[in-house]
Amino acid sequence: MSESRPEILIAGSGPGALEATLGLSRSPHLDAAIALISPQIEFQYRPNMVMEPFGVQTTARYAVADVIRNPNVTQWKGTIERVDAAAGKAWSPEGDEFNFDALVVATGTETHAVVPAPVVTFGTPGSLDRLKEIVQEIDDGSVRNVLFSAPPGPTWHLPLYEFALMCADRAERQSAQQIAIAIATPESDPLDVFGAENSLAVARMCAELGVAVHTNTTLESYDGTTAHLSDRSSYPVDRVFAMPRLTGRAPEGLPTNDAGFVHVDDNQLVIGTSNVYAVGDVTDFRIKQGGLASEQADSAISAIENRLGDREDTSPFSREIEAMLLTADRRLAMRALIGDDASQSIAIEQPTGPVQKIFSRLLSERLREISPL
Ligand SMILES: Cc1cc2nc3c(=O)[nH]c(=O)nc-3n(C[C@H](O)[C@H](O)[C@H](O)COP(=O)(O)OP(=O)(O)OC[C@H]3O[C@@H](n4cnc5c(N)ncnc54)[C@H](O)[C@@H]3O)c2cc1C
Repeated sequence: MSESRPEILIAGSGPGALEATLGLSRSPHLDAAIALISPQIEFQYRPNMVMEPFGVQTTARYAVADVIRNPNVTQWKGTIERVDAAAGKAWSPEGDEFNFDALVVATGTETHAVVPAPVVTFGTPGSLDRLKEIVQEIDDGSVRNVLFSAPPGPTWHLPLYEFALMCADRAERQSAQQIAIAIATPESDPLDVFGAENSLAVARMCAELGVAVHTNTTLESYDGTTAHLSDRSSYPVDRVFAMPRLTGRAPEGLPTNDAGFVHVDDNQLVIGTSNVYAVGDVTDFRIKQGGLASEQADSAISAIENRLGDREDTSPFSREIEAMLLTADRRLAMRALIGDDASQSIAIEQPTGPVQKIFSRLLSERLREISPL
C-alpha cells in the first residue's frame, strides 16, 4: 500500500462503477484518492431504452461528472487495457500508467448477434430504429407475427419481455389486424430467475396480452419468413427481434473464463489477486442486471474498506435481485433470492409511487438529486 492516502482505480461508468465510486468517495471507513476511468462521460439509463421505440419515454442521460462529484474523485476519459495485479498497476492503450492499491473493474460486456440479419439484434447499429419500424408495422397492421428471442447463455432477459409485452399491448390497441407476438427463450419458465411465484405472474401477464412463450428453446435460423427453433419446431414469422449474446469485456491480465467473464469470490475479489475487484456484467455471475451490479459494488466497497480502511467486517454479495417489469400501463415489481440452481420469490407489495428500474443503495438516490442532461 502507498504511504499516503490509498489509491483506488475504478474502471467503467455504468451502475457498478458509479455505485462503487459513490460508496468509496463518501466512506466513513476510508480516506482514499479515487480515479474513475471510462470512455463514456455520460451515463445512459438503459432501462428507459425499452420505451423509446414506443414513443413513451426517451432514455435519460446524466453527466458522469454530476453523478460522482466529490473532492476525492478524479475523472479520466479513456480505457484500461491491461492490468498487472501483483504490481498494482494498470495501463491505458495510450500507455498512461495508473497505480492502485485497489482496482474495481466494472467494464461490462460486448454484445453479439447470434443469428444474422434479417434478425434484428439489440445492440447492433440501428437496432432500436428497426424496432421502431416494427412497432410502426404493428400499428399499420402490415405484419402478422413477430418473434422475440433470447440467446443461450447470459443476456438481458427482462427487457426482452418488456419489448414483447409492449408490442402485444400496441397490437391490441392500435391494429385492426390480429398480430401474433411470441417469445422463444432457453429459460424453463418466463423470467424464472425471479423464482416460481414471480415467474407465474409474468406468465399470466404474457397470457393476458396473448404473448406465446416458447420455453427451453432458442432461435437457430431465420430466412425472413420462417423461424426454426432448437426444439425442432418452426413458425411463420414476419419479423424477429433478438437479445444479444454477451461476453465479458475485462482488461488483459485478469483471469477470465472462455466467454471473457471474470471469476470473483463473494466479496467480488478477483480470484488469484489480492487487490482487484470486479462487479456487474463483466463478472461470471450468471445473471446480468444493473441492480445486481450495484449490489456487487456495495460488497466490493465493504471489502476495500476492510482491507484499506478501518472497517472490521465485510458485506458479502447477498444475491437478492429486485426488478420492475414495465409495459405501457402495467408494472410488476419482483424480488427474489437467487440460488445456485433455482431462485426463491420474495413477496413484496406492488409500489404505486415513481417507477424505479435499477435498484441500488446509493446510485438511485444520487440520480434523484441531479438533473438529467
Ligand atoms: C434495454 C435494457 C434494459 C435494461 N433494464 C434493466 C432494468 O430494468 N433493471 C436493471 O437492473 N438492469 C437492466 N438492464 C441491465 C443493465 O443495464 C446492465 O446489467 C448494467 O448496465 C450492467 O452494469 P455494469 O456497470 O456492470 O456495466 P455497464 O453498464 O455495461 O457499464 C460498463 C462501463 O464500462 C466502460 N468500459 C468498457 N470498457 C472499459 C475499459 N476497458 N476501461 C474503462 N471503462 C470501460 C463502458 O464504457 C461503460 O461505461 C437493462 C439492459 C438493457 C440493455
